[in-house]
Amino acid sequence: MPNEKTAHTLPLVETFYSLQGEGIFGGAPACFVRLAGCNVGCAWCDSKSSWDARHFAPVAADEIVRTVLQYPAPMVVVTGGEPLLHNLDELCNLLQRHNLQLHLETSGTQPLSGKWDWICLSPKVQQPPLQAVCSLANECKVVIAGSNDFAWAEQNAARVSPHCRLLLQPEWSRRDEVLPLITEYAKQHPKWRVALQLHKLIDIP
Ligand code: SF4
Repeated sequence: MPNEKTAHTLPLVETFYSLQGEGIFGGAPACFVRLAGCNVGCAWCDSKSSWDARHFAPVAADEIVRTVLQYPAPMVVVTGGEPLLHNLDELCNLLQRHNLQLHLETSGTQPLSGKWDWICLSPKVQQPPLQAVCSLANECKVVIAGSNDFAWAEQNAARVSPHCRLLLQPEWSRRDEVLPLITEYAKQHPKWRVALQLHKLIDIP
């Protein structure tokens, strides 16, 4: 990639190629770019090892792009941690030169940077999302661990745009208890869909 050298670095946990396991694009092949650092601290987090960015060496954005280009899928999912702790303008600029579809997974707690084809907002009650991110979200995925979380889900539904897709996802370790609740809630409130973590069901990264 001549002329794409950049001094901009990001604390990279990993890049890997898999299927999108969550949300509207569940089942679609995608390259994942997981960045380090998280300011939210969910008790049930799957990627706690990514929370402290000091544990991960900074990697140049153009080097991340070179890795992404090894994979055949057009979808790139930038995730974390909380990726918006870092300025993502440069990474997005470089990736967009290759006509990739850029998806962001965020808690929405930090100002938006980068340009995205799809923003998946996963709001967390302990650190509510910024309105600016809510307004631009394409998908709002609320994790449900108990019946109290439906009120939180509705608070977020009221903050996103009318075009935003609304998903209820059971917290994995409590799925047996909460799936019947979620199923019934979606039937009674059909603006919501039920979402499962496909990657955990089929045991892939
Ligand atoms: S926001 Fe995401 S990365 Fe951060 S603690 Fe919660 S689930 Fe984990």
